[in-house]
Amino acid sequence: MKCARCASLVVTEVFVDYHADGGGMSFLGYRCPICGDIMDPTILRHRDGACAPTHSHARRRPGPLLVDGRR
Ligand SMILES: [Zn+2]
Repeated sequence: MKCARCASLVVTEVFVDYHADGGGMSFLGYRCPICGDIMDPTILRHRDGACAPTHSHARRRPGPLLVDGRR
C-alpha cells in the first residue's frame, strides 16, 4: 500500500485509542515513515466517501481594494 500524500510505501502498525469507551481499544492502521501520514479503516472510509468541493459552496474571492479601502 502507498501513502496518499507522498506515494511512499507505508507500514502496518497497531494503534491504541485510549479515549475509546472502556479505554485501550486497539486497531490496525498504516503509517508512512516518510511524511508521517496515518491511515486507518475509518480514515480510508471517509476519504472514499468524501465529495469534491463544489463551486457553488466555494468562498467568493473578494474583489480588489479601492484606494479608500472599499471593494
Ligand atoms: Zn507519506
